[in-house]
Amino acid sequence: MARFPSLTRPHTTRIAEADSVAVIGLGRFGSSLALELMNSGVEVLGIDGNEEVVQTHNTLLTHVVRADSTKEDVLRQLAVHEFDRVVLAIGGDLQASILTASLLLKLKIPTIWAKAVSDQHGEILQQLGIHHIVYPEKDMGQRVAHLVRGAMEDYLEIGENFALVKTTPPNSILGVPMSQTGVRANYGITVTAFHRPGAGWTYTSLDTVLQEGDHVLIAGAPDRVEAFSQLR
Ligand code: ATP
Repeated sequence: MARFPSLTRPHTTRIAEADSVAVIGLGRFGSSLALELMNSGVEVLGIDGNEEVVQTHNTLLTHVVRADSTKEDVLRQLAVHEFDRVVLAIGGDLQASILTASLLLKLKIPTIWAKAVSDQHGEILQQLGIHHIVYPEKDMGQRVAHLVRGAMEDYLEIGENFALVKTTPPNSILGVPMSQTGVRANYGITVTAFHRPGAGWTYTSLDTVLQEGDHVLIAGAPDRVEAFSQLR
């Protein structure tokens, strides 16, 4: 028997516009992602099996439908196959995630993003052929570990041994034009931008002279940016 036997709102109009995205599963991750897409002007079709969740998002997304995404006829009725981009944001219910993933591939959605809650889950999604797999809990855990360990205020690993970090500059480079600080040669990092209270963020140039109270955005290998952040 279907867990979500009926749709609360039958699909009568064409939902998929050129730039729109369908988000399946409006838990914390799916909801936050859908709302951020809406904030940036993207039309979003939200699908969730939980009536309460659907009600909560009713006025927040372009369309919200209560439906079971593991049913092919339901996805077709919602014209999910007309979307170029679909985000599968079901994590905890592995069976629902895998069944929905295989249906989305069957519907030949050009770009599918899926959330994985473990390495094994991600591996299964990858073997199925899902195009982009994200690990929100794992990624955030790793990111926070870097913040907890070092003096970094923000940490973003770009991949392939490269990270962007927000931190405070060490005293040794304050009052010195960037061209003379030797940060790249001495520390193996690049100071890409700086923030000055009242002035906001600006790109650094060779003439930039950092002052006390400034923050910097540095780029480089994770061990190098971390070591640079520890300097006082
Ligand atoms: P989060 O961490 O993002 O809150 P989660 O991984 O803890 O999510 P899940 O169990 O993955 O929680 O559920 C995310 C959402 O997906 C829930 O709101 C749930 O109602 C919805 N959902 C689960 N299975 C289905 C399904 N088969 N069809 C539609 N929606 C579903």
